[in-house]
This record gives sequence, C-alpha cells and structure tokens, in this order.
Amino acid sequence: MTELDRRSFLRLGAATGVAGALPGLAATANANTTPATGAVKGGVQRYVRLGRTELQISDISFGSSRLRMGEERLVDHAFDLGVNYYDTAESYTRGASETVLGNALVGKRDKVYLASKMIAGPSTRAGQLMSALEGSLERLRTDYVDIFFNHAVNDVDALKNPEWFEFVEKAKRQGKIRFTGMSGHAGYLAECVEYAVSQDMFDTMLLAQNFGEDPSFFERVTKSFDFVANQQSLPNAMLKAREKDVGIVAMKVLRGARLNDMRPYEAGGDTTFAQAAFKWTLNTGYVDAAIISMTSTDQIDEYLGASGAPEVTDADLDLLKQYAAMTDATYCRHACNDCAGACPFNVPMADVLRTRMYATDYGDFSFARDEYAALDVDASACLTCDGSPCAGACTHDIDIAKLCAPTHQMLS
Ligand code: SF4
Ligand code: SF4
Repeated sequence: MTELDRRSFLRLGAATGVAGALPGLAATANANTTPATGAVKGGVQRYVRLGRTELQISDISFGSSRLRMGEERLVDHAFDLGVNYYDTAESYTRGASETVLGNALVGKRDKVYLASKMIAGPSTRAGQLMSALEGSLERLRTDYVDIFFNHAVNDVDALKNPEWFEFVEKAKRQGKIRFTGMSGHAGYLAECVEYAVSQDMFDTMLLAQNFGEDPSFFERVTKSFDFVANQQSLPNAMLKAREKDVGIVAMKVLRGARLNDMRPYEAGGDTTFAQAAFKWTLNTGYVDAAIISMTSTDQIDEYLGASGAPEVTDADLDLLKQYAAMTDATYCRHACNDCAGACPFNVPMADVLRTRMYATDYGDFSFARDEYAALDVDASACLTCDGSPCAGACTHDIDIAKLCAPTHQMLS
C-alpha cells in the first residue's frame, strides 16, 4: 500500500479498528448507541447526549479557534460528514471565526448547535457581556447560540461576579442563549470546576483534557516515576460535574498536536496518533465529546476516523507513549499550576507557555500572537531576569525561563 493510500485508509478506517482492545477503559456513559441518522462512511459515527442540555452532538466536533476568512469549505466539509456542533468565540481570529461559521451555516441553522464565548473577569459588567454576545450573534447570522461560555476561567473569583448571572438571566429571557457553560485550560482548573459544580452554575463545561494529563494513562503505561500525571484532581472534578448531569466537552486532546513528528511512528499501524488520542479521551468515562481545531479537509477526515470511540488498542497506546516521551520536556500541562507564585514579576508562566505551544507546535503564529497579546501580564520581565526564581519551579522539569523569554521575543 502506498503512503497516500495508507493515510487515506487510516483517516477513514479507525472507527472500525477494535482488534486487540485494552480491557478496563469505561465506555462513555452518555453515549447514544443508536447509529447516526444518515451516517456517512468516514464521518460522524456517534452522537452523544451533552448532559442536561439534552443536545445530541457529534462526539468529535468542530473547534474554530483558527478558522480564517474564506475557509467556509472546511465548515461545509465537516457538516457534510455529520458534524453538528460548532464551537467558536468572539476572540477567535478576531471575529473571523464567527463570520465564517455564520456564512457557511446559512440555511443550516436548525441542523447545528452553536457555542460561543467571552471572558468574564471578576469585574466584567453585564452590559459588556451582552454587547459581546450580540456581536457574536451578528457575525454568526443567528438570533441565538445554544451555549454561551464563560471563557478561559482560571480564577474562582471570576465565577463569583454577580454581573454574569444578571447577564445570563436577561439573555435567556430574550432568547439569545439556551444554555451556559464555562471553559478552562489554565491554572486552578480543577478548583474552578469544583466550585462551579458546588454552586450548580453551568449546564456544560469545555475543559482541557488529554491522555497526558490523565492519571490512569500513567498507571497503564508505567509504574515508574519517569512520568508523573499532573492533573490528579481534574478527573474527579469532572466526574462530580457528570454526577450533576453537566455535559463535558474536552479540548486540547492532542496535547500540543505535533502531528508531523508522529508520522514515522504511525507507519504500518491501523490508526494515527490523533485518532489514538481521541480514542483515549472519548473512552475515559468522564467526557461526552471532544472538539478540535479543524484546519484542513484531510484533518477533518482523519479526526473523524476516531468517531464512535473505538477502544484503545496496544498500538494506540504505543503511539501515545511515544508522543508523551517526545514532548514531556516542553509541554506545559496548562492547569497543573504547580509553579504558581514562583515568579516575583507575576509572569503567567503557564499561559505564556500555552501561547508558545500555539506558535511552535500548532504552527499558528497569528493565533499565538493574539492570545499572547490578550494576557494581562506579558513575559517581558524574563528578558532581564536571571531565571533563578522560577528555576526548578516546574514539577515536570520544564525550564520555564528558557522557554518564556524567547516566547516574549517571538510573540510581542
Ligand atoms: S525568568 Fe524570571 S521573570 Fe521569567 S518567569 Fe522566571 S522568574 Fe519570572
Ligand atoms: S510550567 Fe510546569 S508547573 Fe507550571 S503549569 Fe506548566 S507544567 Fe505545571
């Protein structure tokens, strides 16, 4: 089989490849086992109930953080393959993401679910949130979004802002939003999830989660201390959310998405690294569905090859282990936050490293620059600091100073 043929086969074939499945991984609890109506070969194989919202969404859905003007064909392609959940934000590609979705989904609004977001800090006013929502609705060419997220929550205080509740009550009354959620991928994520669940604040959550941050992955691949799982409390927090019937969508499933680096290791196998990563996440038992930035039609085909959540095989596990070993020294786990307080200049180290990932791993400098510019504090202090305060602060042996200073130079 030629390389082209093999990759075409892999893109389409993973959903049926269950030979050699590992025992013990729980099936996703909310899975709708009824085959998707009109399921296309190579397309979405399963729709899942998103918690109390009762929305039935494609288990692998469309993330649009990198969607640019003129890319309506990507949305069309995903739609034709059965993707019915589209996640965006006012900040993505400076509004272009919402505009492109709006253009592509004209005449299809009743066949899809739309989610958008805005960061609501501790002092954000209800009027600001309403303006942001109305801007999103205009770009999306719709009267309502199915879910509106409090975006990038990394501080419990941000969840206590009474203006959020005032905004939600009014927006729901006006029919502009149906359900609410929180999204998070940075420090104190587990604490924020626990707090939100205790207050029963949201119908859904969009959370950074991948095999490399799942304690059970490390239990499965090694008993040594070569790898240390760093999100010990996040799976438990997500399970508590599930107990309250909060729908959980995962993001950052590919743990940095160095897909090209993995091509040599995929040779001869039945699945790609990306498909293996999706299979892991969708089989954790605490995730309903996953979104991923879809930036080419080939990628869409490949990712949807893992729809249906086939079980994780030994070969999948080998790919995940290989990837974890390759990226361990530079991949910031976003929400572990063990380094908090180490920098006397308040550089948000995990966020800086996240923006670095967008540039160096995703190869998306424009998005990385936008995200870096949105940080409250940049990493300019790293240029003149000798790095001693944060030396050794990362419990995963990332050399923070060595990565943060070049990130500032690259993205500022
Ligand atoms: S190098 Fe210095 S300024 Fe930069 S994160 Fe480390 S301690 Fe903070
Ligand atoms: S730099 Fe290290 S300690 Fe800090 S958030 Fe990232 S992985 Fe955790």
